[in-house]
Amino acid sequence: MRTSAEQEYIGAWSALERERMLQSLAGETVDLLVIGGGITGAGIALDAVTRGLRTALVEMQDFAAGTSSRSTKLIHGGLRYLKQLEFKVVAETGRERAVVYENGPHVTTPEWMLLPFYSGGQLGPFTSRLGLTLYDYLARVKKDEWHKMLNARETLEREPLLRSEGLRGGGYYVEYRTDDARLTLEVLKRAVELGATAVNYAAVTGLRYDGTRLSGAVVQDRIGGGEYELRARHIINATGPWVDDIREMDRSKEGKTLRLTKGVHLVFDQERFPLRQAVYFDTPDGRMVFAIPRDGKTYIGTTDTDYAGDPGHPRMEEDDLSYLLDAANYMFPSLGLTPRDVESSWAGLRPLIRQEGKNPSDISRKDEIFLSPSGLISIAGGKLTGYRKMAERVVDLVSRRSQADDLPALPASRTRTLAISGGDVGGSAGYEAYVRQQTEAGIVAGLGPDEAERIARRYGSNAPRLFELAVGSRDFADRHGLPLALAAELRYAVLAEMAATPADFWIRRTGRLFFDRPGVLRWKDAVSAAMAELLRWSGGQRESYDRELDRLLAEAVEP
Ligand SMILES: Cc1cc2nc3c(=O)[nH]c(=O)nc-3n(C[C@H](O)[C@H](O)[C@H](O)COP(=O)(O)OP(=O)(O)OC[C@H]3O[C@@H](n4cnc5c(N)ncnc54)[C@H](O)[C@@H]3O)c2cc1C
Repeated sequence: MRTSAEQEYIGAWSALERERMLQSLAGETVDLLVIGGGITGAGIALDAVTRGLRTALVEMQDFAAGTSSRSTKLIHGGLRYLKQLEFKVVAETGRERAVVYENGPHVTTPEWMLLPFYSGGQLGPFTSRLGLTLYDYLARVKKDEWHKMLNARETLEREPLLRSEGLRGGGYYVEYRTDDARLTLEVLKRAVELGATAVNYAAVTGLRYDGTRLSGAVVQDRIGGGEYELRARHIINATGPWVDDIREMDRSKEGKTLRLTKGVHLVFDQERFPLRQAVYFDTPDGRMVFAIPRDGKTYIGTTDTDYAGDPGHPRMEEDDLSYLLDAANYMFPSLGLTPRDVESSWAGLRPLIRQEGKNPSDISRKDEIFLSPSGLISIAGGKLTGYRKMAERVVDLVSRRSQADDLPALPASRTRTLAISGGDVGGSAGYEAYVRQQTEAGIVAGLGPDEAERIARRYGSNAPRLFELAVGSRDFADRHGLPLALAAELRYAVLAEMAATPADFWIRRTGRLFFDRPGVLRWKDAVSAAMAELLRWSGGQRESYDRELDRLLAEAVEP
């Protein structure tokens, strides 16, 4: 039996409603169809729905399963783009990070970053000070977050693991840490709350035209197996690494094309890599790598190498592993890290706009919009950080195209001050007080103080819904031998965030496959049994989802 609170979630964004949503979309003509449920597509769906457009989004894997769950997980102005003299990118993304933070303090956290410099290195006190000053200015950094310059002693005090030989000092400045997949989900969930329809495991396999004008798409349900024809006045191709595939489908892949480069991150337990302080450091080959502490782990990355394999399946390989271990052992020499110390990893693909003759790390991260003769609008490149501005530009273009059809212009974008789902916590200033208050509510709902706080932090203003679910989840939790908090999170993921497989839950909904591997190993069978009950899987379905999760767990540690 479902409680009335659960009934309320079903219909909003439940995995049980996927097929019904697709059937209902097939019966209408939407204003805007977005292909791709990464951060770019999610941002466009939110911008469009708040400007009054009937909006639908289809994603062929899980939401954020492409690049948007595989980044360095920073909302940042891209300090390194100063080196490439990309002042506009630095200014826009730098300013946007304050907006992203204010609208969703539950998924974004300020993090002081140390930028050490060494005798004979690329950076020295002068260049670092100049770069960081320019960064503070261009990105309009808040006064209390302006950079500081540290001498060698102060630098080592902040991070004693750093190589001390040749250390001259460090810059100290603020980046913002995020959970990229949860950011994507919260942006998309807000769009759904405001009336958009978004369905995962729904792949566009063909396009439909009225004469020469694009008018719809064929969508294949990768879980239910059905095929649907969706009609739309405008179609946006926000498929990241797959942008050229959709352009090819539209026979409009001309001019600029994509170049995919792979970036890998490795995760270590804090016991083995006890980093206190986030560090952004030079590698011996002249690149820059981040080392970031998070949730009892330390992760480091990234690599940047050309990629020609299957975009749906990038993974860590021997070269990536040895490159990152060498970089870590060079900067933190006392650790002596080996492949056996790697607890998890992820690999992502940057959908960059091809610039002939450039090294992967030197290619611009600027986004570009392509409009095809059929009306297909494609967007590629960009950063997580700039997603809102990218979305605004795309929907502005939709507005101009509507005007060309003698329809009224759309109202201006409203997302600058719009909280994403879970972000109604009184802004960044109100967040800590909100967490304290909700932690109390979680304890009253029967959770331990740590679990209650973890849920309050992760889900922000949606935490009360999880606590309600916890109250009604005792039998469910007991039946499957799950802790109450995990049972509530699982039910929320399935009923309110469309999690359809164990990998959806362990990777995109909770990030645990990267940051709590022992927890995944401990609870994966119970979670799979619980999902089988919630989603009414056949025995075959459960077996294939379990196999997929086991494969992902193995790939995270084995090159
Ligand atoms: C290693 C690495 C580190 C990075 N670090 C940062 C960082 O710290 N900060 C930052 O701001 N940016 C960072 N970025 C950049 C950022 O992650 C990307 O710009 C962003 O995630 C791209 O999002 P997207 O939505 O365009 O693409 P994706 O997230 O890949 O989404 C595209 C989606 O389209 C779907 N799709 C494809 N074809 C179809 C189809 N036919 N039908 C339906 N759906 C389809 C895919 O399944 C996919 O989910 C990093 C990127 C990488 C690779």
